[in-house]
Amino acid sequence: MDRSFVWAHGRIVPPEKRALWASFRPYAFEVYPRELFDPKNYSPAEAAELRALAEQEERYNDLDYENSFRAFLYDGEDRRGLEERLVRINFLGRAVTVHRIIRDALLRIDNALTSESRTDAELKRFIDSLAPIGAYNWRRVRGGRSLSYHSWGLALDLQRQQRETKAVYWQWEKDRNSNWIFIPLEDRWQPPEKVIQAFEYEGFIWGGKWLFFDTMHFEYRPELHEINRLLAAREGDSRIVSPRNDAAIHHIVPQVVDVQNFWRAWF
Ligand SMILES: [Zn+2]
Repeated sequence: MDRSFVWAHGRIVPPEKRALWASFRPYAFEVYPRELFDPKNYSPAEAAELRALAEQEERYNDLDYENSFRAFLYDGEDRRGLEERLVRINFLGRAVTVHRIIRDALLRIDNALTSESRTDAELKRFIDSLAPIGAYNWRRVRGGRSLSYHSWGLALDLQRQQRETKAVYWQWEKDRNSNWIFIPLEDRWQPPEKVIQAFEYEGFIWGGKWLFFDTMHFEYRPELHEINRLLAAREGDSRIVSPRNDAAIHHIVPQVVDVQNFWRAWF
């Protein structure tokens, strides 16, 4: 199946919708940070930038992505078509429903973490404490109009059964704390480092590294790891050598014009 898409001011749309770009939400190609970005290091300028980004996010909440590109990538024109691509697997002892393209990656993660947990008591406790894992769920993102990655069967939420006392998800914090962006790292809940690394190794990203943190959330974004790899390969690129730039607040617009082939290498 061959289809064309065009890049229009940050939107990826079929050619016939090029003129309508402003009615869709732009894609953000952020540099996925290697390390957690620590709010206590924000300079006043960065803090202002972060607040502006938060407002922008709120504005874009009224827009949805033009979804035909993702529908093409994930081989499901609509909810029904996508649901035909789903598989049910056992992951860390819980049944999860996910897109079949991530099945093998998840089984490898399961395998790695399960064997690691035989000698790592903290990891074992974490796995044992997990609540049912939310994965496929056709839904809009909370408070917004765009489809969540859960809708594509490409995201998983790992939460413990117990109620967390630390911050988990920015949307929950936002309602009670206008300074949620600056909640210190030690006050944010996070899964064990080995869990995060196992997911990253297989092409997932962890929502805890987002400015709009969602520390229970993992989603399959191999293209972001690929962007990091490309940037790292370009020695001396100031966007990666500065620790400040190694952060989610720095959005880059890919110079890759052939976006479709760029992704296709991965799916
Ligand atoms: Zn999630």
